[in-house]
Amino acid sequence: MSNTEKYSLNSAKVAEATNEWLLKRGVEKKAIAELVHFLQKDYFPDLTPQDCMIHVDAVLSKREVQNAVLTGIQLDILAEEGKLMAPLQDMIKHDESLYGCDEILALSIVNVYGSIGFTNFGYIDKLKPGILVRLNDKSDGECHTFLDDIVGAIAASAASRIAHRKQAEREGVTTPPLD
Ligand code: MG
Repeated sequence: MSNTEKYSLNSAKVAEATNEWLLKRGVEKKAIAELVHFLQKDYFPDLTPQDCMIHVDAVLSKREVQNAVLTGIQLDILAEEGKLMAPLQDMIKHDESLYGCDEILALSIVNVYGSIGFTNFGYIDKLKPGILVRLNDKSDGECHTFLDDIVGAIAASAASRIAHRKQAEREGVTTPPLD
């Protein structure tokens, strides 16, 4: 785009890029759905990972979430390529524990889904089940400092969405909370 061309947001492209980049970074939606299932299976024994997929899709359809995914993945890639400025480069590359901007960016996702989202995010971040094991593996040269928190936040948000919807179902509410 030249400087004289006017910028305008293309929401469909942002949504498409989000899905593409998650896949390119080795994160299938199925793996996120499995995390959601892990978080909610004790509360809803009939829930399947396939059921969880609908909620992962709903979370991923939100603009705030797409923006966080793209921003986080971009920073991870720049860190892998050694293109960030010092000392940020080393802090992100080595997932410095006192650098918390990765968690803060991920919280912008959870924010949309209320306090159950926060609780689930903290829980999954502590246990790091499923795909989070690989995203946290520091031995393969890949950098997922931002993406691990983002994936955890998407799962936590989808789990929160399920909890709110199930309650609405129990109460016979036809317009469920949280879209
Ligand atoms: Mg992290």
